[in-house]
Amino acid sequence: MMRQALLALSRSKRLARFMTESPLAWSGARRFVAGRTVDEAVAVVQALNREGLSATLDYLGENVATLAEAAASADAYIAAVDAIRAAGIHSGISLKLTAIGLDLGDDVAVEQLTRILERAATKSPPVFVRIDMEGSPYTARTLRIFHAARTQFPHLGIVIQSYLRRTAADADALAAAGAHVRIVKGAYLEPDEIAFQDKAEVDAAYTALITRLMADDARANGTYAAVATHDPAMIDSAKSFAAQHGVPRDAFEFQMLYGIRRDLQRQLAGDGFRMRVYVPYGRQWYPYFMRRLAERPENVGFILRNVMREA
Ligand SMILES: Cc1cc2nc3c(=O)[nH]c(=O)nc-3n(C[C@H](O)[C@H](O)[C@H](O)COP(=O)(O)OP(=O)(O)OC[C@H]3O[C@@H](n4cnc5c(N)ncnc54)[C@H](O)[C@@H]3O)c2cc1C
Repeated sequence: MMRQALLALSRSKRLARFMTESPLAWSGARRFVAGRTVDEAVAVVQALNREGLSATLDYLGENVATLAEAAASADAYIAAVDAIRAAGIHSGISLKLTAIGLDLGDDVAVEQLTRILERAATKSPPVFVRIDMEGSPYTARTLRIFHAARTQFPHLGIVIQSYLRRTAADADALAAAGAHVRIVKGAYLEPDEIAFQDKAEVDAAYTALITRLMADDARANGTYAAVATHDPAMIDSAKSFAAQHGVPRDAFEFQMLYGIRRDLQRQLAGDGFRMRVYVPYGRQWYPYFMRRLAERPENVGFILRNVMREA
């Protein structure tokens, strides 16, 4: 119920404007957002790198409505690629196709994505670029754009969501293509016809995706799985699959979000697993922040208490 309400509110443009202007709201969002500028985000990644964690930088923003906004988001990503190189940090970038114009047409997003991918590949090794997965109206288009772009730009990865009923078939196609795939449960409000609603079903589907993408045949094909979750049961599934099937520790990675389960992030890195932290930054933090609250409604009380203390 609370999850639904928070996800519905995450789409409110009025609340977004109000929250983004409020210093108090920002003080709450800071738990999940590394900063407003790329320099602040780079400083966070430098600290993570020192502890043996790698990162992926997300310049926050989604659903832009004009060509100028799409180009400006892509410019910000190009600046992030340049900042990663200049600072020599271990980080890729993660982007949403609606931030670079998908609502204006596939061709708009593809043009901006190509600019980013070309800049990411100007030096070797290229900066890795991951396309995040958004709500279900975008799934098929996002996968189509990914498969097409990947033939030209191998330093490109994708995300699949275990809550979608279609995802097992998408995973088969990605395993056949030898893709870099981040596995997540899914963060949007989706109807029963297309998405599992029950946590046990979402979790079972997640474990099946680990098995599919970390299997010998998939890895032999170049498939590389990123197990992105804070759920200890999913992490244990990946660890035991790897142990039972002799999957080397550099043949997959774990990923978690900035500000969530830092203890577990450090523990996994300390145990010798690859661990990457998703580091969002920028001024358009509102929908991202609301999705984090929706994942764990106890966060609302926690954030409010901190904000009140600061007030
Ligand atoms: C690196 C990364 C990238 C992602 N990219 C995408 C994407 O492209 N598209 C997409 O739809 N979703 C994405 N997600 C979000 C994902 O879909 C889930 O909504 C989110 O990860 C919560 O699910 P969970 O796997 O952690 O398991 P859950 O079963 O939701 O949570 C397990 C436990 O993790 C902890 N936890 C989970 N979320 C929070 C939180 N917000 N605050 C505090 N504790 C928490 C709690 O202890 C909880 O009991 C991404 C997640 C990660 C880690």
